[in-house]
Amino acid sequence: MSCTEARFSFELYPPRNERAAAALPATIERLAAARPDFISVTYGAGGSSRSSSLQVLRHIIEHTDISPMAHLTCVGSSHAETNRLIREFLDAGVRRFLAVRGDPPAGLAPGEDGIGDIRTTAELVQLIHRVQKERQPYGELTVPQLHAQAVLSRREHVQIAVAAFPNGHPSSHSVQQDIDALLAKQAAGANLAITQLFFHAEDYLHFAQRAKEAGVAFPILPGIMPVTSPARLRRMLELSGEDLPSDLAIQLEVEPTDEGRREIGIDWAARLGRRLLDGGAPGLHLYTFNQHEAVLAVLERAGVLANASAATAPASTRTIPESETA
Ligand code: FAD
Repeated sequence: MSCTEARFSFELYPPRNERAAAALPATIERLAAARPDFISVTYGAGGSSRSSSLQVLRHIIEHTDISPMAHLTCVGSSHAETNRLIREFLDAGVRRFLAVRGDPPAGLAPGEDGIGDIRTTAELVQLIHRVQKERQPYGELTVPQLHAQAVLSRREHVQIAVAAFPNGHPSSHSVQQDIDALLAKQAAGANLAITQLFFHAEDYLHFAQRAKEAGVAFPILPGIMPVTSPARLRRMLELSGEDLPSDLAIQLEVEPTDEGRREIGIDWAARLGRRLLDGGAPGLHLYTFNQHEAVLAVLERAGVLANASAATAPASTRTIPESETA
């Protein structure tokens, strides 16, 4: 499969049961065959998916030539724990990270915020850079004057992406606050942002423009996904906190067949993707829900993949039912 100039990447999550784990290698193979810039793997806040995330990342490293991106969270962890975690991922060969704070667990005692030692994502970005630097041979770093310079020059050795929220993070008071948070992450050494899901191209395009005017210089990749069922739409709204797009919701509700709903979701996401690229987005980041067919079809229909044979070829392996992935 070859592709046109637009860049794209995919997101996976660690499988939640044996059946999903058995199906994932074939999904990774199909996604990798499309030649994405990277495949990212989510991480459970509080470390709940530490070993399964690492297992998926190792699989990508060992079985494909696509670079994996590890999501990392710091919420609820000590500084030392996060330091060890970063080192473990670097030792596994991961060189791209998506640094996110993560959400504290529900039901905390009064007065507890559950955030942990690292208070902001910007601090996590700095810590990833520092751990990476410490893994380098010492040599010139023993001279204090060269130390800061060495840190800066080595920042490019790892790519550190961060989250962006075109419609505002649920806890922020204004979009300006989110842009300020992005600027802080940039100052800490982040060099890419990936957005939360959103439903309208204008949401992203206005946000990206405002961020650029405010001084955000790194690319902001829009995160999109084909919503192929009302259940997935509900799950997506739950995760993102976005408002319900009533046109899409109605279309999905009234369509009687799975095939028809899949078609609606793919078409909707492809048109959104095309509008984003035409509006100047640097690429597309696709939330796959661990299924390759729909996202590859989106890229094909958006004109990003020149030939989507892998999307349409009969699957050599099992596909897990949507109920296990949504
Ligand atoms: P931040 O960007 O640091 O904060 C979020 C917002 O809070 C800011 O935009 C700002 O408006 C406000 N804020 C931050 N600091 C301050 C401050 N000092 N004062 C006032 N306001 C402030 N979660 C997971 O658990 N695992 C994952 O793998 C994962 N992957 C994600 C991938 C993407 C692309 C996105 C968009 C989110 C992901 N999340 C993941 C969710 C993320 O953990 C939550 O959104 C979390 O609530 C915030 O993390 P953050 O890094 O975006 O925080």
